[in-house]
Amino acid sequence: MPAPQALDPQDLLHRLTDATPAMVTDLERLVRAESPSLDGDALSTCRTVLAEIGTRLLGTAPTILPNDPGNGRPGGLLWQLGPADTQPVLLLGHFDTVFPKGTLKHRPFLVEGTRATGPGVFDMKAGLIQGLYAVAQLRELTGQDPAVALLATADEEIGSPAGGRVVTQWARQCRAALVLEGAADGGGLKHARKGWSFYDIRVKGIAAHAGLEPDKGRNALSDLAKIIVALESLAAQDDRITLTPTLASAGTTQNTVPDRAQVTVDVRVPDIRTQQEIDTALHRVVAETARLPFEITGGPNRPPLEQARAADLLVTARTCLDELGLPWPGSAAVGGISDGNLCAAAGTPTLDGLGAVGGGPHADHEWTDVTHMPQRAALVALMVERLGAAAR
Ligand SMILES: [Zn+2]
Repeated sequence: MPAPQALDPQDLLHRLTDATPAMVTDLERLVRAESPSLDGDALSTCRTVLAEIGTRLLGTAPTILPNDPGNGRPGGLLWQLGPADTQPVLLLGHFDTVFPKGTLKHRPFLVEGTRATGPGVFDMKAGLIQGLYAVAQLRELTGQDPAVALLATADEEIGSPAGGRVVTQWARQCRAALVLEGAADGGGLKHARKGWSFYDIRVKGIAAHAGLEPDKGRNALSDLAKIIVALESLAAQDDRITLTPTLASAGTTQNTVPDRAQVTVDVRVPDIRTQQEIDTALHRVVAETARLPFEITGGPNRPPLEQARAADLLVTARTCLDELGLPWPGSAAVGGISDGNLCAAAGTPTLDGLGAVGGGPHADHEWTDVTHMPQRAALVALMVERLGAAAR
């Protein structure tokens, strides 16, 4: 490669803006490779498409990560660029989506005006394309590979059973994590995400005929109902905590005292201390309220992405947007989780929501504004360059 060149932010943005039609074409290819998290064949096809696009743009093929040993589903992709002795910046995304195969038939990839629609267009295939174009443009403009690890996992939407370990491992090795998940409403960056815990609570009762001898039964459903009411008080003192019973089942027939009852509880918390406190309190409240034998499984799944981890990167983002002549889109704390939570928990400075600008994640009206694709790619590219320069 030729000698390194200084980077001109305006030139970067112009070139990426010129590349918008190519970005949209690649986005279409990626969206048309449907990739629901539980469909191994579809994931593997989508991974091939992503690998082809990235190899063309970055000039090098990715490492294909091992299959999930538990179920054999495909692993993700990793491009590791730049000098081996420089700590890279992690660009993080996932190519699985929540939409079942066949969604394309009634919701094909379309661009109308500035809006692209299609399954996974916002969460988060546009973000992946933007990340690849950002790195490609940096290579072209500076004449060298930036120190970057670009990781695309295949199981984020189902809680990252295999990808999570890889994310944590790479986050630990990187100076910062830029997460290419879709932006908050209006394009806002995401400087904090709540932590997520979930619990399955099962109560065991004794079955009996509800008409003939109900007194011989022990009603697991009634016991569980009291537990649920008691648990809801845990979130009542602090509006940053939510505790939501989501799935429940009980009983066997309409005229039998239920001998079993089960509920799943979804808990969102603002910080790690609260996550631990709620965990302890939940076990205590169930034990104090239950009159019948019970069992609790589950617990904290994702630690929070705490604001302190994003603070320095927010400043970097703001400076880079100024240099690009782009407006500050604001930043938000959100309830949803991403693999960014894992990066922050690994102790790595993490900023999320750097991907697509649009809306409707997981919904049929999901959309991405294509005019923001080059702007976001330019922001990511300039942040990578500035973070790398700070390291030299
Ligand atoms: Zn996502």
